Amino acid sequence: MSYQALYRVWRPQTFGDVIGQHAITQTLKNALVTGQTSHAYLFCGPRGTGKTSVAKILAKALNCEHLQDGEPDNTCELCQAITAGALTDVIEIDAASNNGVDEIRDIRDKAKYAPTRARVKVYIIDEVHMLSTGAFNALLKTLEEPPAHVVFILATTEPQKIPATIISRTQRFDFRRITAEDIVGRMQTILDDKGITYDEHALAVIARAAEGGMRDALSILDQVLSFGQNHVTVENALDVTGGVATAQLGEYLEALQGHDTAKALTTVEQLLAAGKDAGRLIEDLIAYLRDLLVYQQAPSLLADSETELIDDHFKPLAEAFAAPQLAAMIAVLNETQGQLRLTNHPTIYLEVATVRLGTVTPAPAQPTAAPAADDATVTALQSQLAQLQATVAQLQATGGAVKPVVKPKKKRALKVNKTKIYPILGSATRKDLEALKDIWPDLLSLLSVTKRAMMKISEPVAASPDGVIVSFDYDILVERAENDAALMAELKAGLQKLSGKQPEIVLVQSQAWPRIRKEYLQENGAPHAPKPEAQTTPPVVKTITDLFGEEPNITVTND
Ligand SMILES: [Zn+2]
Repeated sequence: MSYQALYRVWRPQTFGDVIGQHAITQTLKNALVTGQTSHAYLFCGPRGTGKTSVAKILAKALNCEHLQDGEPDNTCELCQAITAGALTDVIEIDAASNNGVDEIRDIRDKAKYAPTRARVKVYIIDEVHMLSTGAFNALLKTLEEPPAHVVFILATTEPQKIPATIISRTQRFDFRRITAEDIVGRMQTILDDKGITYDEHALAVIARAAEGGMRDALSILDQVLSFGQNHVTVENALDVTGGVATAQLGEYLEALQGHDTAKALTTVEQLLAAGKDAGRLIEDLIAYLRDLLVYQQAPSLLADSETELIDDHFKPLAEAFAAPQLAAMIAVLNETQGQLRLTNHPTIYLEVATVRLGTVTPAPAQPTAAPAADDATVTALQSQLAQLQATVAQLQATGGAVKPVVKPKKKRALKVNKTKIYPILGSATRKDLEALKDIWPDLLSLLSVTKRAMMKISEPVAASPDGVIVSFDYDILVERAENDAALMAELKAGLQKLSGKQPEIVLVQSQAWPRIRKEYLQENGAPHAPKPEAQTTPPVVKTITDLFGEEPNITVTND
């Protein structure tokens, strides 16, 4: 027999088998028992939460010859035919591939006829939001005057795309994401049945990756089982889900907590070298920090399956970090998550995030958690936690696609050191800049690991024989680097080694750089008139290009 996917083999066949949707299945059973079923249902909810399974069970229950307490018996002829997909009176349609008016008209025409074998003809229309406007109109006509022997079950992941006129004609059920605990429980049942052993922690890893979808969880489990061993290991689960071992997350955070940024960066490098995805790593870190925060406030809130994640690192970390610190770290990671979507260099942003996380300073001390924290403190923490949970929920709901957090512009003007910058600009040449850009990667490779991570986000923007100007994306890094005597010494030593010179190094914030150049131009004018052959380009722009190369921004030369 060919291999059948777990989620097919273990598809629930009765309402009682359905995991995590008790309110819905109970309501349906009551309606079946009292004979008060509807002519049209709308099942909404994320993928893999049981919509199609419940639709098929309902189709059986509506037709079963031995209905018991609202449950189909699964043994009568009709039940078996429906389970096998062989009953022509139960029609499953995937609107994603049949979204035309003609198909729906066809349904309308055929719905008129009485069922051939069953009592009730059931149309299950999956992904119903994919129907075209014309098709919705045709469907609406049918729903307005439903034949007595027909029941429509519409299923969708995107109810907001369904016309209100349709929704108002249906009885709506919203399927919830299935809890990690329920998913773990189901996987345990399946594995026990198959005689396969498992690390509980591995199941927690799978449940977390499935994000409330049973079908996804069972698909991941299928892949893990395809490794061919009779034991589900954490390692295999992490391989399949692309997740990061909690122990490694713990080590990373411990390094940050001990202000050992170099070690934290090494951990990141190892994880990425092992093929972990930067985005996934950040998601895992956010989840871990959230768990720390939850655990600090209310240990009992962490569900059983999640406490599997609590290892040797977890409790010491929960004690070491203050709640505002954890919140600040989550904010940094959220921001990085937004940046990752806009860049082709995720590694760099992850490393910058690491350096920034290392600088996250505790907020003004909370009244230290005295044995009895006063009510105000508790309330403040609770509201912080609620906000955080909302953010996490939003992240989960959107699959992480939250707009990059835009930091409120700091009002404080960036101090621009004109006395250092202007002399360099005064004698800057494009040749010097290109020479500097040539050796830049080599220069970075000479730096120690922490310094290198900080400088990776930097870019040489101007150079003269005696000085170089380097821009940074973050002003926090400009300040840090400027005040980092060891870094400046390493840079100068590197330049000496590579170019034989020790130029002055000036750092600027990349956003401020165009303004600095413009001001310099206004105050000093464009130096030389261009040569005749360049007349087509406005003189200033031309000389600017000579100096800084082809860049979107503008500059000058006296070449
Ligand atoms: Zn039956």
